[in-house]
Amino acid sequence: MSADNINMLLKTYNLRLTECRKDVIGVFMEQHHAVSQPDLELRLNHYDRVTLYRTLTTFLNKGIIHKVLDDTGLTKYALCSGHCTEHHHADEHVHFKCIKCENTICIDAVSVPAITLPDGFTYLDANLLVRGICKICQAKNNH
Ligand SMILES: [Zn+2]
Ligand SMILES: [Zn+2]
Ligand SMILES: [Zn+2]
Repeated sequence: MSADNINMLLKTYNLRLTECRKDVIGVFMEQHHAVSQPDLELRLNHYDRVTLYRTLTTFLNKGIIHKVLDDTGLTKYALCSGHCTEHHHADEHVHFKCIKCENTICIDAVSVPAITLPDGFTYLDANLLVRGICKICQAKNNH
């Protein structure tokens, strides 16, 4: 992703173009898997934690990134597919955790199936984590 694309994305969401915002979006665009705050701290170690945390919170609220829960216990984040808005995330897709490379990715093409709850329960949202071996690791194995 080019710097132009990053600037355009931030402008679309009416966000001021700060260096930190640009760098954080850049990391999300170049990684094809979900990223945790500690991952970001390692890659962008010239920013302090609070600044990174605030940037993540802003992006979450704007509908630019969503939370990805996997089995590491760390909250990870990934770019939204573009259907999300400031007040509503629409990321009810399956997340896939690879047991080899330990990356977690969004499977946008597969939605979380409709869940019917017993009477008296109200549905809010659902997370579905599928574990297995990803395409990249599978390809490595075949060599
Ligand atoms: Zn979203
Ligand atoms: Zn893998
Ligand atoms: Zn996702």
